[in-house]
Amino acid sequence: MKKKIMAVIMSVVMAGATLAGCGSSAGSASKDAGTSDSAAKETLKVGTNAAFPPFEFVGDDGQPDGFDMALIKAIGEKIGMDVQINDMEFDSLVSSIGGKIDVAIAGMTVTEERQKTVDFSDSYYEAVQAVIVPKGAAFASAADLENKKIGVQLGTTGEFIADEIEGAEVSAYNKAVDAVNDLNNGRVDCVIVDKNPAEVFGAQFSDKVDVLPGTTFDFEPEFYAIALPKGNTELADKINTALKELKEDGTYDSLVKKYIEE
Ligand code: GLN
Repeated sequence: MKKKIMAVIMSVVMAGATLAGCGSSAGSASKDAGTSDSAAKETLKVGTNAAFPPFEFVGDDGQPDGFDMALIKAIGEKIGMDVQINDMEFDSLVSSIGGKIDVAIAGMTVTEERQKTVDFSDSYYEAVQAVIVPKGAAFASAADLENKKIGVQLGTTGEFIADEIEGAEVSAYNKAVDAVNDLNNGRVDCVIVDKNPAEVFGAQFSDKVDVLPGTTFDFEPEFYAIALPKGNTELADKINTALKELKEDGTYDSLVKKYIEE
C-alpha cells in the first residue's frame, strides 16, 4: 500500500521534470507580486513553515533561516526579485499559492495530489522518510509499524504513509517537534518524518530516541521542489534556470555543506 503511494510520487516527479523542461509561453508572470523597493524590484512572496530544520527554522534573530531560505534568496538574486518570507502552517502552503504567497519552499515533496493545485520546479533535493523511536526500541521492518501509535506532521508525506499502515493510530501535529515531544512523553510509539529533520531531532534528544533509516521500512525516495502557481511557466522557467546556475556555480553545494552536512 505504502509502495503504491511512493510509486505515484515517483511517477509524478518524472512527469514534473518533463513539464518543467518544455516551458511553453502560456501563463502569466507574477507581475502583481506585491510592493517593490526603491530599485523597483518586484517582490517574490515566499511561503514556508519554519519548523523543519535544517531546511527551515527560526534563526537567532527571529527570522526564518535554513537551507531552503538561503536557496530561495539566492534564486531571488538571480531572477532580480526581492524575496519576502511568510512563515505559515505547512498544511496551508499549497492552497495559499496564487493568493497570500507566490511560491512555497518548505522541504516539500512533489506529489500527484499537490500537482492538482500547483506546479513544481525541478527537484532540488532527494529525501526519504525516517522513523524516530524511543531509544533501544525494537523496530526492524515495515511490519513493526503495524498497530502502532504513530506521530506525524499534519499534511505531510509522513502522514500519508502512516495513514496506509495496517492498524496504525495516527496523531497529526502542526509541528514535527510536537510529535517528537509526545514520543518522549510516551503518547506515541514512533514518529515518521523526513530524514534530515529526524536527524536534527535525534541529535536534540539523543538520550531519549533513536533515528531509524527509511531503508529499514522500505520507504522510497522523495523529491523536494519549489511549489509554483499552476500554469505560470514564465516564473517556472526563471526559477529552474536560476536553480541550474546555482548548481553549476557551486552555490548549491556550499549551501548543502553549510546547512545540511555541517
Ligand atoms: N517532505 C514532506 C512533505 O512534503 C514534509 C515537509 C515539511 O514538513 N515541511 O510532505
